[in-house]
Amino acid sequence: MNQRKPFFTCVTLIILTLAFSASAQDQPLKIDYQLAMSQPSSHLFEVTIEVRLPDKAKPDSLDFQMAKWSPGRYAVFDFAKNVQEFRALLGICPETADCTLPDAPITRMDDQTWRVSLGNTPSATITYKVFGNDLSGTFSQLDSRHANFNGGSIFMYVVNHKQDPVGLSINPPPGWRIVNGRIDKRDQRQWHFPNWDIMTDTPTEIAPDWTQDTFTIDGKQYHVVLHAFGKQGNKRPALVRDIEKIVRAEIAMWGPPEFDSYTFLIHFANDGESGDGMEHLTSTQIVLPGELSDPEQYDGALATAAHEFFHVWNVKRLRPIELGPWDFTRPLSTRGLWIAEGITNYYGHLMMRRASLWNDARLFKTFAEQITEVDNSPGSKLMSAEESSLSAPFIDDAPHAQETNLANTSISYYPKGEIIGVVLDLLIRGKTKGKASLDDVMRRMYEDFYLKSSNASYYLRGRGFRNEDFEKTVSDVAGTDMSDFFRRYVRTVETPPYEEAFAQVGLRFVREPRGPVTVGIAPDESEKINFKIASVRPDSPAAAAGLEEGDVITSWGGIRLTPANFLKTVSRYKPGDRLPVVLQRGGKVIRLTIALGEPLLFNYRIEENPNASAEAKAMRAAWLNGK
Ligand SMILES: [Zn+2]
Ligand SMILES: [Zn+2]
Repeated sequence: MNQRKPFFTCVTLIILTLAFSASAQDQPLKIDYQLAMSQPSSHLFEVTIEVRLPDKAKPDSLDFQMAKWSPGRYAVFDFAKNVQEFRALLGICPETADCTLPDAPITRMDDQTWRVSLGNTPSATITYKVFGNDLSGTFSQLDSRHANFNGGSIFMYVVNHKQDPVGLSINPPPGWRIVNGRIDKRDQRQWHFPNWDIMTDTPTEIAPDWTQDTFTIDGKQYHVVLHAFGKQGNKRPALVRDIEKIVRAEIAMWGPPEFDSYTFLIHFANDGESGDGMEHLTSTQIVLPGELSDPEQYDGALATAAHEFFHVWNVKRLRPIELGPWDFTRPLSTRGLWIAEGITNYYGHLMMRRASLWNDARLFKTFAEQITEVDNSPGSKLMSAEESSLSAPFIDDAPHAQETNLANTSISYYPKGEIIGVVLDLLIRGKTKGKASLDDVMRRMYEDFYLKSSNASYYLRGRGFRNEDFEKTVSDVAGTDMSDFFRRYVRTVETPPYEEAFAQVGLRFVREPRGPVTVGIAPDESEKINFKIASVRPDSPAAAAGLEEGDVITSWGGIRLTPANFLKTVSRYKPGDRLPVVLQRGGKVIRLTIALGEPLLFNYRIEENPNASAEAKAMRAAWLNGK
């Protein structure tokens, strides 16, 4: 809707022609999508694609392809597996009349591609159904209550023509209304998009009973669309007011966003499991598993909104160079997700405080929890922030049929990037005596790589950045060479200097052992009576003693161990103690000795330093209030 017209120079046009690998005969096609949903309970979306060829070019065939994954979630899901009844017809029926068209030969080329032979026909009609029954920002759902789709999971693109303009018309069931982040007029059913990527960046909700509330800031409209299953507890007005506080806090940092309107599409799924947040250029999809009336769910919706709205700038417009346009035939490979997602996670939390929805204690507790998660995880000693970004296809909710050791070898770029973000922000504030911050880094990056940069592709304004660009901007803003920081905490796995960072703003970082010793095993929580080992930490006394996942411990130094008494039992011992353990493994009784070592797990706390200088307190206030 507000997508800026591409601004091409001659030089970029030449680069574009080369970069798109679209050969000369790949002139733009006229591509129109139609979406119908005649039987909602079947969960089958009905897709029609009409393709008209340009006069000059007559390719023998066109390839239609389902993406393997969708931007924002980097695990490979292979959306093609839910496609059925793919058909191709030669020609297009006139809009006003039914007609009979001959079938076009179809060849299935690979797991995601259907080739349609055209002969000399200048147009073709493709139809297929696609099953969708997941309420999430990545997948799509059609059922008797609604249709909610992420276009990337249902719309095929024409190979080599992803950059062509596309039309979309949606035919909803009677009484159902359509809403998305690109509505220009009431009861809109048709859209034109500059390319397939922008069409699939427009998640859409179709139902008889969603609600919409609107607020305006600086002439821009913000819509809160709510489809809430379960009890609402009259919380809707408060939710809209609190989202407005978040939007104002984020605009205060970034300046005006580049759109005329933005839509929060929010679901309270009330099924106990569906939960997601997905960023888009002019909208976000937020799914909570519970009911709006539940205070925890309400808080979760706000924290997710703070994270997703920050993506309006960081990720959707200011983006790592690999983030658009994308090659959907293979997984994404970028070193930048710790910036794209991790730093967004940091600011999402900080903005809850700047919007006055959290107090200082809540914010500090949240940062401490993130540090606890990272520092207690064995994977954080093996995987750097950059490697974590590159491993996104394995760790971002990726399904694994094969057993993996990822729990011990990986760390998510969300908390890892977040803690690098907070440390970096506070160190920059300290080094510049409060004159600059990570806010300045982000604003300068947005300006240099989005607002002021020439377009690098058809997809979007500006060009993507490399990690080296981010590093250079940090050094420029900090007024000192920060390359050592990136070498130690971003590209390798050293523990960031938490004490030093929090001290800049008069805070103490406190680290305490979680108990006198660490054993290194976790119980299977589904077992109430027996202590069955769910996991063994690789660098632990349990691993050294030879304990294995699946072992059932029957005696622990003569005591019967249960999941309930485990922590209390273990806390009786001290490093150096040796005790006999009896366990059952595959029907055999095994006796071994475990030698307990120094604690490996810690709790972290961030608290006010009562002796903080006035200067440090002023810097803390500026950090927390965004001044
Ligand atoms: Zn819905
Ligand atoms: Zn995110």
